[in-house]
Amino acid sequence: MTFEIVIENGTLVTMDGQSQVLENHSLGINKGKIAAIFPAGSSSFWAKEKINAQNCLVTPGLINAHSHLPMTYFRGLADDLPLQKWLQEYIWPLEAKLVNPEFVYDATLHGAAEMLKNGISTTNDMYFHMGSIADACIKAGLRVIISEALIDHQLTEEDRNCCIGNRIKKLREDYRDQPLIDFSLAPHSIYTCSPDTLKKCAEVAKENGFLIHMHLSETSEEVQNCVKTHGKKPVEYINDLGLLEVNGVLAHGIWVDDEEMDILARNGKSSIAICTESHLKLISGFAPLKKYQEKGINLCLGTDGVASNNNLDLLEEVSLTAKLHKAINNDPTLLPAKAAFALVTCNAAQAIGRSRELGSLEKGKLADIAIFDLDKLENQPVYNPYSQLVYAMGSNSVRDLLINGRIVMQNRHLTRINEDLLLKRAKAYCDLIRKEIS
Ligand SMILES: [Zn+2]
Repeated sequence: MTFEIVIENGTLVTMDGQSQVLENHSLGINKGKIAAIFPAGSSSFWAKEKINAQNCLVTPGLINAHSHLPMTYFRGLADDLPLQKWLQEYIWPLEAKLVNPEFVYDATLHGAAEMLKNGISTTNDMYFHMGSIADACIKAGLRVIISEALIDHQLTEEDRNCCIGNRIKKLREDYRDQPLIDFSLAPHSIYTCSPDTLKKCAEVAKENGFLIHMHLSETSEEVQNCVKTHGKKPVEYINDLGLLEVNGVLAHGIWVDDEEMDILARNGKSSIAICTESHLKLISGFAPLKKYQEKGINLCLGTDGVASNNNLDLLEEVSLTAKLHKAINNDPTLLPAKAAFALVTCNAAQAIGRSRELGSLEKGKLADIAIFDLDKLENQPVYNPYSQLVYAMGSNSVRDLLINGRIVMQNRHLTRINEDLLLKRAKAYCDLIRKEIS
């Protein structure tokens, strides 16, 4: 057997259908895919490059189901505020002044680098200037699904009349040779998009096979306003507009009741991306995780943007989500470590409609792989790898990361990005933003 890369002698936490954990196994990679998985020493092979994964957990790369990469430079800019005040008085005015293709490229590159360091290999992102996001992610080597965030008051007359979705259709064509890049459609929310826009998004997504990515039921006010304005609860409302007929990631989903969950379960194409830290910080509420599980609705996790989190640490989200929901349900058996880790691997792959290619370590799947270092005091001893990943390890235990069969981080060193340059640039933008808000 000949491979481009072999990851040797690791403990493979496969997250496959049987949840196999394969000790002392190796994994061969060719052409961006997992070409073979075999017990270490069982067969002779030649590899261009070998990665020693002894004393390591080898897992699928983590999948972040909801992010806003270009908001990275807004980290810590305005904290400790309610959502609407935060959006209307700080974020939106600054975005209107500052956000241009160059800003988006630079901020995305910084955010992408941070995600890689945290073991994230795919993110489902929503923002503007999608070409800049794509270019920055290609540079970083991060896999991304880029949603065009549609907000009614920012749409041109042309967009409104005929052209919703045209930009991403063209971009999908322009970037068709880029394996890391995909696009989806994001009506920002029910409070920023008209029924016509939402309906049109559903139609375009259906016709073109785009994933729908939107915020839904993040605050109780959003639900009350929806009932007042449209006479329906948010899930009923978007269902009537056709948005549940296509694969969709609904970010937040905090204020969703039983009846609405039944609709989601019946349609079966939408997943909920819970963003626990953002929910806690903005006191948006607690997502009804246990109820969602009981109804069989697919769940995944997102970091949201750093402006409301304030980091891109998905493993921390897993740990916090598991513990928080045990506490609020008074049930320590709820969301055990294996199920919690599934939220950022196989479940998330299903949410973004990519479970045939991503989310588990299996022959034929894309080689998006994280290698966690167990050779640290805080990571020993190991009885249960899931428990170690969810409750013990920090993201700084991710030693190496491969995406599409390429090493993007090795021994915590990013192979494609100059981190010093990113730090300098972040400081320069900080000065610029300070001037804008002073
Ligand atoms: Zn968001």
